[in-house]
Amino acid sequence: MTAELTITRERGECQTFCGLAGIVWLHRKMQDAFFLVVGSRTCAHLMQSAAGVMIFAEPRFATAVLQDRDLAGLADCNEELDRVVSELLARRPDIGTLFLVASCPSEVIKLDLDRAAERLSASRGGAVRIVAYSGSGLDTRFTQGEDTCLTALVPQMPALPSSERSLLIVGTLADVVEDQFTRLFNEMGISTVDFLPPRRVADLPPVGTGTLVIAAQPFVGETLAALRQRGATVIPAPFPFGVEGTTLWLTAAATAWGVTAERVAAVIAAPAARATQALARYRELLAGKRITFLPDSQLEIPLARFLARECGMELVELGVPYLDRRMLDAELALLPPSVRIIEGQDLETQLTRLRQDRPDMTVCGLGLANPLEAEGLTTKWSIELVFSPVQGFNQAADLAELFARPLQRRQRLVV
Ligand code: SF4
Repeated sequence: MTAELTITRERGECQTFCGLAGIVWLHRKMQDAFFLVVGSRTCAHLMQSAAGVMIFAEPRFATAVLQDRDLAGLADCNEELDRVVSELLARRPDIGTLFLVASCPSEVIKLDLDRAAERLSASRGGAVRIVAYSGSGLDTRFTQGEDTCLTALVPQMPALPSSERSLLIVGTLADVVEDQFTRLFNEMGISTVDFLPPRRVADLPPVGTGTLVIAAQPFVGETLAALRQRGATVIPAPFPFGVEGTTLWLTAAATAWGVTAERVAAVIAAPAARATQALARYRELLAGKRITFLPDSQLEIPLARFLARECGMELVELGVPYLDRRMLDAELALLPPSVRIIEGQDLETQLTRLRQDRPDMTVCGLGLANPLEAEGLTTKWSIELVFSPVQGFNQAADLAELFARPLQRRQRLVV
């Protein structure tokens, strides 16, 4: 199926956030975790502006700023880090897991945070779990920060006894979406449903040969590879966006578990019918509208599939940061063969095509949205789609609405 698609690779200037942005949604999900970025003032500014919503709450992230002396190799960064961590843990005894997050500067000066995490954990006798991962912007996209974070948690997961089975859903989901999926799987007879990341890192789910893994987000490829190493079996499936995606995703997991097709159909019939009905009014607004995705979040392909097949939108160009075939083959098979797929980014070339195409909507990063709006193009921020509750039947209409709203706003401005 996918052989019919034409995929062009581009390399050049990219426009995206770095992996530190993942802290914005990861710190909300894992309530007992604290994220300490070991980086520069630029990293601190990014965190403050990207996650400024925490201004009224005791934040669960901070930046240990590397000074000029650190960067020039004149100071012992490990000593400084030990001091900062000690002060932090003394002030915040509620921290159950501390993530040391590497950045571009800490990677450039080769500060080994994995070893620092081991050393600091050992010095506290295991009272606090300390884990390192990279959120650096060196050649990565912003959603890869979640993948590196979850990959670092895999070795920490307890072993599932060989006589037991579990279904593990990987990729951050809103609590309300998790509850809906758990209920549907329970109704199908799947009683053990776990999530990675969990709501509390202290409750990391077990993994073993009896674990079936299904991804809820398309950017967790390395986490899935690490779970395979722990004996888990990965279920390939499209992602749970829209009625079709959710049906295929639930069915793939249930079939792998051994649930009959009749039982799956009986459980999903009512919520799928409600979702189809709710979606209908947005299909009227979206059908026939032309859309371009600039590569940013890695959600582009599943979202494009949903918008083309369930909302009747016309795909003009579909940019994706990188094509992880392990994650996306099931999605690619559902795309219209005529779609222009671009892997990677050469920003100026892409913007030239965009100005020629002038689609009705452009999905892009925050930094490009305002300039493009000023040129009269209607835009949608891709990062918003990462942390909005948009997966599952109950959210299918909400997902379509997120695309309908900018079009309606533009119509009102034009009238
Ligand atoms: Fe900038 Fe790198 Fe820090 Fe991200 S990690 S804010 S790209 S310096």
